[in-house]
Amino acid sequence: MDKQIEKLLNKEAKRQNGGIELIASENYPSKETRAVCSSIAIAKYAEGYPGRRYYGGCENIDGIERLAQERAKKLFGCAYANVQPHSGSQANFAAYKALLNLGDRVLSLQLNDGGHLTHGSPVSFSSKLYDFHFYDLGIDARLDYDLIARRLDEVNPHLFLAGYSAYPYEIDFKRLREVIDSHNAQSQTHAYFMVDMAHIAGIIAAKLTQNPVDYADIVTSTTHKTLRGPRGGLILSNRLDLAKKIDSAIFPYAQGGPLENIIAGKAVAFREDASPKFVKYMTKVLENTKACNDELSRRGAKVSGTENHLFLLDVLTSFGIDGKTAQAELESIGITTNKNTIHGETLPPARASGIRIGFAAATTRGCSKKQAMQIAGLIYDCLTRAKPKKDLRKAVEKIADSWKDVNDLSF
Ligand SMILES: *Cc1c(COP(=O)(O)O)cnc(C)c1O
Repeated sequence: MDKQIEKLLNKEAKRQNGGIELIASENYPSKETRAVCSSIAIAKYAEGYPGRRYYGGCENIDGIERLAQERAKKLFGCAYANVQPHSGSQANFAAYKALLNLGDRVLSLQLNDGGHLTHGSPVSFSSKLYDFHFYDLGIDARLDYDLIARRLDEVNPHLFLAGYSAYPYEIDFKRLREVIDSHNAQSQTHAYFMVDMAHIAGIIAAKLTQNPVDYADIVTSTTHKTLRGPRGGLILSNRLDLAKKIDSAIFPYAQGGPLENIIAGKAVAFREDASPKFVKYMTKVLENTKACNDELSRRGAKVSGTENHLFLLDVLTSFGIDGKTAQAELESIGITTNKNTIHGETLPPARASGIRIGFAAATTRGCSKKQAMQIAGLIYDCLTRAKPKKDLRKAVEKIADSWKDVNDLSF
């Protein structure tokens, strides 16, 4: 093995094993998934789609990709799946291309309220290629469906986008479909309904929340967050009339040869996601997230509450520090989080008033409800400087040591 890389990988495994990973977008794929991702499928060029490739020798690769497609369709109950996107951002790039002309109007959530870079950020391709407009959350920081109805009438978008990176509550996709339908019935411009379920795909797969595939024209996702697969993207739809457009938006428009080793890994993960064991896991993720949120609240911290795998902690109101500082303080005791803007943000995004906390990764390693509450105590003690950091670091290590090794997470 390459000694320099081996050394860095060993250090990374040590970092992961010795700490508590609370970044809401992270997770650990199973050993089985990881093994397949480093398989010989990595060596094959397969531009195109199963049965219609630009290269010879694709019969086995076709089998792998078809299996991944079939498992994705079954998992989410839909008619079409494209498993080739290299990432969630690539999936969104292609989804826009499939549905829109350059310069078309898109209505998406105000970025400070939990949208993603690809949802119209000035630094993303999305805002350069399309005309993004935004909707706000209600005063309770939740989706306000009447407000959305009004914004639809004002903006007359070609596409309405739901699905977020830092939104801790349930999304009523059925209600959104109704709101969009009634807008479309009296508008000259037809608005497509797109859902980016990158964060909550695992909760949807476990059938613990509404499935957007039943309501949206197109659904994009990542495969590595709550879905617990390899790093990658996914596009789903029940609109078979859009299939050709989506396929050609991925290849040849956005990408070249697909990463068939990663597609094999997605297939393995989709099989795991369809099992009762995964439903149990996801139920635990929701319980742990709520336990940590509630314990912080009981101690007097201002938290968002949660109906999924994440919540927001308002560190400015709770502890008088910004999110950047809170992130660094927690990192120094071995707890990894990320700073995050909150509803009604008063600080620049590089500082932010909050941090985002999620339990998908920690639960994969074996975090119990009791430990999730202990972790809330450690976060509180760290940010109030109630205890010496070295004692807190030790307590973090003790919890992390009780969990499974990140290199040995069998499904
Ligand atoms: C993570 C995320 C993405 C992008 O995923 P990448 O694989 O990092 O490109 C897109 N949309 C949302 C809502 C996300 O949370």
